[in-house]
Amino acid sequence: MATIRFQAIQETLNRKPVVVNEPAVRRSELYASNVFTTSTAKHYMPKEAYNAVVSANLHGTKIDRKVADQVAAGMKAWAMGKGATHYTHWFQPLTGATAEKHDAFFEPVGDGTAIDKFDGGQLVQQEPDASSFPNGGIRNTFEARGYTAWDPTSPAFVMGTTLCIPTVFVSYTGEALDHKTPLLRALQSIDAAATEVARYFDKNVNKVSCTLGWEQEYFLIDSALAASRPDLTLAGRMLLGHGAAKGQQLEDHYFGSIPDRALAFMRELEIECITLGIPVKTRHNEVAPNQFELAPIFEEANLAVDHNSLLMDVMSKVGARHNFKVLLHEKPFAGINGSGKHNNWSMATDTGVNLLSPGKTPKNNLQFLTFFINTIKAVYEYADLLRAAIASANNDHRLGANEAPPAIISVFLGDQLSRVLDELENVSDGNLSPEEKTELKLNVVGKIPDVLLDNTDRNRTSPFAFTGNKFEFRAVGSSANCAKPMTVLSTIVSQQLREFKAEVDALIEGKKMKKDDAIFNVLREYIKSCKAIRFEGDGYSDEWVVEAEKRGLNNFKTTPEALKAQVSQKAIDLFAAHSVMNHVEIEARYEIELEEYIKKVQIEGRILGDIATNHVIPTAIAYQNTLIQNVQGLKDIFGKDFGQYAEQQLDMVKEISGHINSIKKNVDDMIEERKKANKIDHADQRADAYCNKVKPYFDTIRYHCDKLELMVDDELWPLTKYRELLFTR
Ligand code: ADP
Ligand code: MG
Repeated sequence: MATIRFQAIQETLNRKPVVVNEPAVRRSELYASNVFTTSTAKHYMPKEAYNAVVSANLHGTKIDRKVADQVAAGMKAWAMGKGATHYTHWFQPLTGATAEKHDAFFEPVGDGTAIDKFDGGQLVQQEPDASSFPNGGIRNTFEARGYTAWDPTSPAFVMGTTLCIPTVFVSYTGEALDHKTPLLRALQSIDAAATEVARYFDKNVNKVSCTLGWEQEYFLIDSALAASRPDLTLAGRMLLGHGAAKGQQLEDHYFGSIPDRALAFMRELEIECITLGIPVKTRHNEVAPNQFELAPIFEEANLAVDHNSLLMDVMSKVGARHNFKVLLHEKPFAGINGSGKHNNWSMATDTGVNLLSPGKTPKNNLQFLTFFINTIKAVYEYADLLRAAIASANNDHRLGANEAPPAIISVFLGDQLSRVLDELENVSDGNLSPEEKTELKLNVVGKIPDVLLDNTDRNRTSPFAFTGNKFEFRAVGSSANCAKPMTVLSTIVSQQLREFKAEVDALIEGKKMKKDDAIFNVLREYIKSCKAIRFEGDGYSDEWVVEAEKRGLNNFKTTPEALKAQVSQKAIDLFAAHSVMNHVEIEARYEIELEEYIKKVQIEGRILGDIATNHVIPTAIAYQNTLIQNVQGLKDIFGKDFGQYAEQQLDMVKEISGHINSIKKNVDDMIEERKKANKIDHADQRADAYCNKVKPYFDTIRYHCDKLELMVDDELWPLTKYRELLFTR
């Protein structure tokens, strides 16, 4: 009897929405109440310390020990006032999760009494026993130390009873062991490059920040139902299971009314987020049943990345309180939509201008076009690196699987801007005539409307789309840390802007061209050279795959293939030039990501083998025995005529044996391939073997298991079914 399955369904049917108490104060008042914001900090520390922190935020200046002590004292007083008893350095190691190790403020002083202690030293630097975090060989065991260092640009916060201090995580020799360090370096690089270019248009610009607004998609599955499936529990996705008769084909879930239990979860999640300073704004049903989305207002990229990592952690905690397992996996259910995390990205000046927003004047629009075209050129030059930045075993199930963007990187501009670029392609070589300039100003650059947010002109199939005042990198996976795509994007655009500046300056100085003319000339050449990356058509179509190949665009369908770009000489040179990562850090990351890929596929292979062998085959045999008994009984009754009464049963007995044989054989063969793969020394070849030799068995094994699911008595089937997981409320 399929006891666990039926119990889980019953438990789910009995659930009531958890009551959520809206706090007495409005959400706007609640906002960031558990964050040590600069305005809070003002009340808790001397002016000198406060100014030092503000300056560190704005200009990245260093904070000395005396000031650190003052900041720590302020933070402690504030946090203890919020009920905090512990503090932790909060960081993002390369595991994909966040890490924290709590220490109490409490400290005995030796005379039988104790004090609460937290000083500048503890604020600024910690030495977690870091030997168990992925390091890709950077730290040998004898030098297994790493340290965390305070990132004053992301404010501390109190979560529960713990003061959390956002930090970077680096080895003793200074190599980054986390996601944040390279991101901060990349943001510094693009700040410098973009500021220089922005100053062509406005001398008052002193800083350019990247902005990021992520959109988090996720599934909510009742925790009892999820726990009844070993694959959901261990791999976060269904490794087998026949699709439900009804999926998303009626399109009745997207933007539909939010189910009560899900809404209760969302409300509590939002309250937690707002308290933690995550400016969540939007919530809605997504395309697939039980799939939802949450989006905040965009923020400076480093902060937005921290907030997304924090969100993913908070989501699973709040989920547990509402008896939900939150699935962040990119493709938990084959056959229905997977989950992504669109990264909306732009650049903003300290004068308050969004550099990817068309302006009201031709001058503003020339600035807009400069950053717009340079971004397109950067994506063209480094498309493979962007593809690598979003590669993961999970995301492989999504990219190119006919719903998410394809694995081919291209840029969508929309009609209006495509036309503008087509016109700019024809500007004269050298200095422009006064007539041409007037024409450009009036009819091309001047005609870009300042609001391009036209929803009818959207292309949902593009991995990298311009959406009015920002680019939207849609291929990022739902469980990913946004730091990686943001690091790559910032670095490649930084590189591109530097080249642009050098070329424009050369024309101004060498050819005595006017600044605007020089800019037009360089942009014209970029438009010509990076045409191949522009695609306005249907990214899901087969024709695009063919067309993209003709254009020389890569289509890396799997992670092992895609990751190779990360260790190309081009990538190593690029990251070194911007001091984002040195070759040791790059190679370590490559190693870590390959290992992660291998382990994920290995774990899935094991789970699938176990379920197929321990759940599916015994159930199929039990049902087959019933059929055999039935046939035997018919024979007893009808004697030699029994055949005509037992025809179907006999066919089923045979069919079941066929599936059992195929499952057993394929599971055995898969295990053999795993053994062979495990013996391969080099991680890249091992990953290839897992991808091309081990993983292909998954589909075959699944196929036969799913066929059995359709045949076997529902009462006997031990695994909770798609329809039950997706539609039991
Ligand atoms: P959708 O893509 O679902 O239609 P939107 O286009 O409204 O939704 O995307 C909204 C997201 O874009 C939000 O997260 C928002 O904060 C973000 N966003 C808007 N402007 C910017 C910007 N200048 N920089 C970065 N993100 C932005
Ligand atoms: Mg979007």
